[in-house]
Amino acid sequence: MVQKIIGLIGGMSWESSAEYYRIINELVRDRLGGLRSAKCLMWSFDFGEIEALQHAGRWDDATAEMIAAARRLERGGADFVLICTNTMHRMAEEVEAAIGLPLLHIADPTAERIKAAGLTRVGLLGTAFTMEQDFYKGRLAERHGLEVLVPEEEDRRTVHRVIYDELVQGRIEPASRQAYRAVIARLAERGAQAVILGCTEIMLLVRPEDSAVPLYDTTAIHAEAAVEMAIA
Ligand code: GLU
Repeated sequence: MVQKIIGLIGGMSWESSAEYYRIINELVRDRLGGLRSAKCLMWSFDFGEIEALQHAGRWDDATAEMIAAARRLERGGADFVLICTNTMHRMAEEVEAAIGLPLLHIADPTAERIKAAGLTRVGLLGTAFTMEQDFYKGRLAERHGLEVLVPEEEDRRTVHRVIYDELVQGRIEPASRQAYRAVIARLAERGAQAVILGCTEIMLLVRPEDSAVPLYDTTAIHAEAAVEMAIA
């Protein structure tokens, strides 16, 4: 079994990149046997620099950084590339166009799982960028025919604040788990049949038992899809 080399654009934050690395290696071991592990390369950003570009709206500079990272992975011999954050899929098309490698988009395997479960109406949690801009919701709707609900404004603010002030800094607060539970419950009340954890750190805070509807953890789904692609 020859494995493809997985290229990971990480560090956004490293808290979730560590999860990608763990999950990918565990899955390869499960699939191929005891001593087998994943062949992968990771570029890990200084997230402080990326966050500053995001909140200043300097998306062109952020795109240039992302393209440079993807090219480093390409030069290093990666066979395909993952962006290990939902938010930075904002520039996924530009990144993919700048390299000669396929990019495994995080929204696609997530949507495939949801559709396979027969669901059509989903809630979406993520950064304000992911919940409010069109790059992610639009892909779910246009490519996959899903109806996407995002939390109301105050809930969006809470979800965003917890990501940047706590989760990407490795802080897991019970009060924030309670807040997320309430946000998820309100999405379900509005008709969401499932909720996408559309930020790669939310799984550090929220578990399936925190929700009455199924949760789709983009970190695990993306990592699993990468292993499928690497050992297909
Ligand atoms: N990891 C997060 C996400 O999946 C947020 C960090 C970032 O802005 O990239 O969106």
